[in-house]
Amino acid sequence: MPLQFTPYIIPLLLAAFLAAGILIYTWIRRTTHGAVPFMFMMLGILHWLLAYAIGISHTSLSSTLFWANITLLGIVVVPVAWVLFCLEYTNRGHLITRRNVLLLLAEPAFITVAIWTNESHHLFRQTIFLETTGSFVALNATFGPLFWLHTAYCYGLLAYGTYLLLVTFLRASRLYRIQVGIMLAGAFIPWIANALYLLFLTPIILIDPTPIAFLLAGATVAWGMFGFGLMDIAPVARNWVIEQMDDGMIVLDNRNRVVDINPAAANLIQRTPNELIGQTGAHLFAQWPELVDRYRNVEKAATEIQLPMGTGIRHIYLNILPLHDRYQRLNGRLLVIRDITEQKEIQMALQIAKEKADAANQAKSTFLATMSHELRTPLAAIIGYSELIAEKSKLWGYEKIVPQLNQIGAAALHLNALIGNILDMSKIEAGRMEVFNSQFPVQPLIDDVLTTIQPLITQNSNTLELNLPPDLGQMYADRTKLHQILLNLLSNATKFTENGTITLEIQIVTDQMDGRKTYYFRISDTGKGIPEEKVSQLFQPFVQVDSSLTRKHGGSGLGLAISYKFCQLMGGNLRLESKLGQGTTLYLSLPATGAEPPESYT
Ligand code: ADP
Repeated sequence: MPLQFTPYIIPLLLAAFLAAGILIYTWIRRTTHGAVPFMFMMLGILHWLLAYAIGISHTSLSSTLFWANITLLGIVVVPVAWVLFCLEYTNRGHLITRRNVLLLLAEPAFITVAIWTNESHHLFRQTIFLETTGSFVALNATFGPLFWLHTAYCYGLLAYGTYLLLVTFLRASRLYRIQVGIMLAGAFIPWIANALYLLFLTPIILIDPTPIAFLLAGATVAWGMFGFGLMDIAPVARNWVIEQMDDGMIVLDNRNRVVDINPAAANLIQRTPNELIGQTGAHLFAQWPELVDRYRNVEKAATEIQLPMGTGIRHIYLNILPLHDRYQRLNGRLLVIRDITEQKEIQMALQIAKEKADAANQAKSTFLATMSHELRTPLAAIIGYSELIAEKSKLWGYEKIVPQLNQIGAAALHLNALIGNILDMSKIEAGRMEVFNSQFPVQPLIDDVLTTIQPLITQNSNTLELNLPPDLGQMYADRTKLHQILLNLLSNATKFTENGTITLEIQIVTDQMDGRKTYYFRISDTGKGIPEEKVSQLFQPFVQVDSSLTRKHGGSGLGLAISYKFCQLMGGNLRLESKLGQGTTLYLSLPATGAEPPESYT
């Protein structure tokens, strides 16, 4: 086989070497966006370069033709791979479907068959001959319609890929623009090389520079792709997020022209992003001239605006941020817009509901306070007269009815206590409960409470243990309220304990720092205890562990709630600990000298 050496082979082999290098480099970074189609493109270029280099070493017509046909196998892959790369890189990966790839490959497959069967139809190359006028022997041909068809197809694909990059370039942010710009420059290399070759160089050199031009294009694209390692995921991810997000985003340049707008913003204005890019802000918001006037020169804002839209008003959150270049010059503005109408409506509905609930609550408290008061007056009469009649009955010889009269009196007293509790609670809830502080000795108060509670203790066969300091001292507090709290806690302890022990312990502790005295009361029982999940609820009104016991023990679920609120009012605290089946302990602490109550304590 006659072979020749021509120096043109050297740049081709060097280029092939570089192509192989880029291919390996890309393979290592194959997870980069666009890397896979790019590798196919580089593979095509490598094949093209190698086959071309081998082809020009041959001198016989048949072998140069054979290698020219082999070369074409690589050539046909390049434009297809280029388009796939551009699609993937410019976020149009969804268009790379199996069907579309097969469609793109149909023409190259057809051409491949055509060149190998050219002998029978001459539609690709009409005549072939060896050119011997140059510095080496080369294949030359006159071309048929299929060649021109194929050339048009390749140029079409190259142009489409270049167009995709150009559009992305125009819409890209500054950082991303450099990257796409480099790729775009790469994309133009084959065009320029080809034009130069066709226009000026063909007569001078016989070698086709196109594969080398493609290699240079590939190298430039690779630089754009990998040279900005930090950004190759970030801009794509960022663009994706901006495209997908619900918040509208508009970038205006310093002449107030729309540089970028995401679908959410375009949607709000009821247009498509493509229609809006390049328009002025005034045009964009033409429906709302007031808005344009107000924010035309505002660099920074975060505000809520109301825009008439369709038949109603929409509430929009508008955030304007200045965009500066690296020299801190104002470059433009970023507008973030969020439709908060639904949120606003919910907020308003909640506000109205709250106002209604507050009003209803207030009405309830007032009603309870009035009702309780009204009920107490006739009750006082019932209590008073039942006692009086019971006494008189004994004198008049009607002793038989005394027990029934006493029952009437006891029931009325119970009802009176209940009403008293409801009245207290409604006063607390309405914020009208007052504290009346006075100086009093504590011992007589405790004696009073114990005298009242004693019958209950005996009734339930409980024993009372006292652990009190010898001198209980004096307190400056609301005596009535403290009396009520202790009675509540002790009567609870006896109510829910049978054959057990009730303990009342008092400690007076003086603070080392400020010398203030605090009374610590501990009321514990060995009764039935309270389930853990109920413990935290018992300080709320009307909560009872087992309401079926109400009939047996009496009570309304108000005692603890009132005691707790009274404690707070008096500047103290109440805490409950309990173990089911083992007993309950209440810890009450109160300052010996009570402060004035806080203004709002409900
Ligand atoms: P009531 O009027 O029902 O006693 P309280 O608010 O004083 O209302 O108590 C609420 C509920 O807490 C009681 O019904 C009872 O179930 C539970 N409870 C309170 N103190 C004790 C205790 N010492 N032992 C067991 N259960 C208790």
